[in-house]
Amino acid sequence: MPKENALAVGIDLGTTYSCVAVCHHDKVEIIANDQGNRTTPSYVAFTNREHLVGDPAKSQASLNPQNTIFDAKRLIGRKYQDAAVQEDMKHWPFTVVSHEDKLKIQVVHKGKVRSFYPEEISAMVLARMKQIAEAYLGCSVSQAIVTVPAYFNDAQRQATIDAGAIAGLHILKILNEPTAAAIAYGLDLRNQDGGTRNILIFDLGGGTFDVSILSAEDSIFEVKATAGNTHLGGQDFDKRLVAYLADEFKKKHKRDLHQDKKAMQRLKTAAERAKCILSSCTSASISVDSLYHGIDFHTTVTRARFEDLCSDLFRATLKPLERALKDARMNKGEIMDIVLVGGSTRIPKIQKLLKEYFNGKELCKGINPDEAVAYGAAIQAAILTGNRTPKMQNLFLLDVTPLSLGINTQGGVMATIIKRNSPVPTKETMEFTTTEDDQDTILFMVYEGERALTKHNHLLGTFTLNGIPLAPCGVPVVTVTFSIDENNILTVSAKDVETGNTSHLTISDTRGRLGKEEIEKIVQAAEEFRMNDQTQQEKIEAMNSLESCTLELKRVAEEQVLDIQAKRRMLEMCESASSWLEGNPLAEKEECEQRQKDLEQAWDSICGSIAQSENAEGAMLAEDQEDHTAGADGAKVETQAENEMQ
Ligand code: ADP
Ligand code: MG
Repeated sequence: MPKENALAVGIDLGTTYSCVAVCHHDKVEIIANDQGNRTTPSYVAFTNREHLVGDPAKSQASLNPQNTIFDAKRLIGRKYQDAAVQEDMKHWPFTVVSHEDKLKIQVVHKGKVRSFYPEEISAMVLARMKQIAEAYLGCSVSQAIVTVPAYFNDAQRQATIDAGAIAGLHILKILNEPTAAAIAYGLDLRNQDGGTRNILIFDLGGGTFDVSILSAEDSIFEVKATAGNTHLGGQDFDKRLVAYLADEFKKKHKRDLHQDKKAMQRLKTAAERAKCILSSCTSASISVDSLYHGIDFHTTVTRARFEDLCSDLFRATLKPLERALKDARMNKGEIMDIVLVGGSTRIPKIQKLLKEYFNGKELCKGINPDEAVAYGAAIQAAILTGNRTPKMQNLFLLDVTPLSLGINTQGGVMATIIKRNSPVPTKETMEFTTTEDDQDTILFMVYEGERALTKHNHLLGTFTLNGIPLAPCGVPVVTVTFSIDENNILTVSAKDVETGNTSHLTISDTRGRLGKEEIEKIVQAAEEFRMNDQTQQEKIEAMNSLESCTLELKRVAEEQVLDIQAKRRMLEMCESASSWLEGNPLAEKEECEQRQKDLEQAWDSICGSIAQSENAEGAMLAEDQEDHTAGADGAKVETQAENEMQ
């Protein structure tokens, strides 16, 4: 790869969570880890057998506290004697030792005492972020932009560059976190015609709170002031919630959890999850099976309760805000943009306090706040590697799709084609197929919304594609393309690949789209219903899968099984499965799966006996099956049964 044009990623190496993003195919993508999470805990753990990084390291933390390292960012580039280090050390369960004029973290790994520089621990987190990006991009990644707090000194920046080198990453630039967030919102490009733009970045993360005031002029950012609290963040809110829950458990069950580390860890995990849910729902249920001595713990926490538990902590963010403004010699009215950064700014009450403080001024929150820094770093990386395309320039003056867009598929399941919060303009294509034999028309129903079933979403319009050549279901391939232009006009088109026949629908921004308030309601409702929808969707998938398995086996048996008795047995089984499906629209997922398994087993045994008697024919049949699966690859729901049959 030529160096100047090789892909480079943006990495937000956070105190508690890290995030990686890349500019790819003209847009910025936040890359999810192997657990499907878009941020990864900055945790490294050493055990008797291995070393763990990210989610698995965090989840075993309380069982292996001395050897689970977090907060490496609080140590990097610092000396052992540093007052902050001495103070933090009192609270860490792991050991920090003085080493020459530096410091090291001591752990037991595979039974041996070992010590690591903070750079090495951060390097392990960076290496994991690199790996996450490589798995997604399918190529090696050797360059990155890594972000640091604006107040980091030279030694801390240098040590971060070293961590990159240890991880096999060439750090193109160390970027200030608040600057990265401002770039994510395109604030560097807003004032092209001169003049300065004052921006306030409010970053409330997992363990730290930072306020920065920047001024942008000709795409150059200057840090005017920083303030904050190095020990205020999401973990403090989690602690309050855990204390409340442990108390409730004690009241209900007369048992004290505090000494049971495993129970406390499980409660902490449940509390953090509930806290996140409360940012979008007004109540969250907590359910931990066999929490303590076989006792299950089930309870509900309301948003109001959570806000009450943390109200003093929330209010504590206002003081540093005032200090930063004073240091920058600015008053509230001079701030043009207020940018939310850090996972904890998803909390509605925090947003409310901040908005009130600025007399009702709207906040920049179009990008997920815990992803904004990595987002901006990815843009900066694209600029530095010469990968910023003209198309991307528009994208930085960010406008995003407020809701997901997609079409209705079999069983009323929403196939999302453009995800919520995708920057516009955008274009996405997906393949579909027919669900019935000899189907020559497809009706496309276009929806927006976050729910799994289209009946809960909002119908934007419908159109049909005619003249599909007759073929068995699953064979025709139809590509559906959603594109949204700069003016937010959505065009949905469908094309039959074989004939090239097309049909389309255009929906302008104003017709039938939802308002902001409604959108917020939908997103909230979607969160609440997600679990429910998932069960429902799995059920529909199981039903669809059984149905297509039945149809497929019926067809194959009719065409290929010569033994009359075997053929009849197979056809009867298929018939009975079909009529059972018809008569049981409320069938459970497990029951469908069981029936499908029975059918497949019966088919396997028929195939087995055919193979024994007529070897050659058996081989041909398998080939035919494979062929069919490949042809229907584009079908979403419908191919599942066939894949499972292989
Ligand atoms: P860092 O402080 O390491 O930069 P983040 O900015 O990712 O990390 O913030 C992490 C914190 O944000 C965690 O305490 C996490 O629980 C919290 N958080 C993430 N999502 C939400 C949410 N939806 N509501 C409330 N808090 C959240
Ligand atoms: Mg952060």
